[in-house]
Amino acid sequence: MKYIFITGGVISSLGKGLTAAALGTLLERRGLRVGLMKFDPYLNVDPGTMSPYQHGEVYVLEDGAETDLDLGHYERFTSCRLTRRHNLTAGQVYEEVLRKERRGDYLGKTVQVIPHVTEEIKSRLRLMGQNEDCDVLITEIGGTTGDIEGLPFLEALRQFALETGAGHCLFIHVTLVPFIKAAGELKSKPTQQSVAKLREIGIQPQILICRSEHPVDRETRQKISSFCNVPVEAVIEEQDVKHTIYEVPLMLHRERLDELVLTHLHLKAPPADLRDWEQMVGRMIHPKHRARIAMVGKYLGVPDAYKSVTEALFHAASAEDTGVELLRIDAEEIEKRGTDPLLEGVDGILVPGGFGERGIEGKISAARYARENKIPYLGLCLGMQVAVIEFARDVAGLKRAHSSEFDPKTPEPVISLLPGQDVNGDKGATMRLGNYACQLASGSLAQKAYGVAEIRERHRHRYEFNNSHRSTLEKAGLRISGTYPKGDLVELVEIPGHPWFVACQFHPEFRSKPDVPHPLFRGFAQAARTHAQNP
Ligand code: GLN
Repeated sequence: MKYIFITGGVISSLGKGLTAAALGTLLERRGLRVGLMKFDPYLNVDPGTMSPYQHGEVYVLEDGAETDLDLGHYERFTSCRLTRRHNLTAGQVYEEVLRKERRGDYLGKTVQVIPHVTEEIKSRLRLMGQNEDCDVLITEIGGTTGDIEGLPFLEALRQFALETGAGHCLFIHVTLVPFIKAAGELKSKPTQQSVAKLREIGIQPQILICRSEHPVDRETRQKISSFCNVPVEAVIEEQDVKHTIYEVPLMLHRERLDELVLTHLHLKAPPADLRDWEQMVGRMIHPKHRARIAMVGKYLGVPDAYKSVTEALFHAASAEDTGVELLRIDAEEIEKRGTDPLLEGVDGILVPGGFGERGIEGKISAARYARENKIPYLGLCLGMQVAVIEFARDVAGLKRAHSSEFDPKTPEPVISLLPGQDVNGDKGATMRLGNYACQLASGSLAQKAYGVAEIRERHRHRYEFNNSHRSTLEKAGLRISGTYPKGDLVELVEIPGHPWFVACQFHPEFRSKPDVPHPLFRGFAQAARTHAQNP
């Protein structure tokens, strides 16, 4: 097993996760088996309790782990299947060290960052090395070099590389080379300083990936090379992509990143076959059709808050040869200005997941607008719950219908707490999380889209369709098209007579890949394209 460590310098949000994922694509295309994991130096045990305003969306794995959104990139760009072991936070490391201390594992000793915390990090890496069925394990280290909380991780990696021996570990540093307009030139100093910080703690990166808005010229590369002690051919550029993030592997391949990596790790592999990836990117850039899709959410200040949702939409649309004009609509704006000025002329309405009362009536109105105007609708998790509330209020006559999450006193809680959930209990990792089976009703839109009778999808919710209102809603015309067989929980609803109105309690977006779009997103994209052609 070979190890690649990806660190980041100068600033955050350089796209380290994307770079790690794109390297994964390239190595897989060269026939290597690749694993990907992430270290996050924050003290939360997992990001499940954080707002999307902190680090973007919370990405949910099959096993129910709530993880950093970079794991979403890993799963979309490669065939790796991730588990909770693939996202290690400082919170988990300290939790384990403290548990061992109480148990007496370190009896007689002073428990310290070095060696106890670093040993815990190394042991996770060793464990992955033993259990992961792959040739290369790529580990991304969250944060930026120079962060105090990242130091134990970097120190652990330095020791690990020393112990593993030359040729087994490779350090890649992703850094920023800014263009200063006033001087009309690229600046290498921030990169020099961030590499100096790494070298100060004993890590010499072997490859530098320079993020830049402009091409990094030979002279700048030379300068970076000599100041950072990295051969000039290992100083490569990663410019901002023009159209889609799926261009990144192609760009890094042109810079010979995969070749450099193989040389450093003494690996031999056939050349990368990227033809189908190139074709896929081509389709994304030059679609034949267009559709306007409104995504009605509330965490709109952060582009990454709905990362998997928007990616899944682009995957599906490109498979339908359709370019998406995505309108990110603030649900609170709908509350202020009404649906018409914001939703008129759209070909599809998507309401993603969410928590808390803010914007809820705006989302309910969006579902009503889609139903009444026969606009394709895709509801995800909270997006299903608002569709059910809307249907209950406006079609089934349950005027005060609501979710008990937002109105605990509602006389008509069509959405209520799941059995076994407790609003006053611990908040971390206590929702209904991860993969559960769902039986599809034959003849439903969902069943046609999936083409099978039973599916498994990832979940993240505390509230659920309330079965005590089920017959009222079904009599009023709501179709229950998917249920969890063991607990008789409603997982999917549809509105017959509408061109395409499908809403699910689970999160299909976590399973979509650029080359394998998710069936529900595909069905939605197809319906939106049809709507655009015959509005
Ligand atoms: N807040 C809702 C619940 O807990 C929906 C969650 C979500 O959209 N992920 O059930």
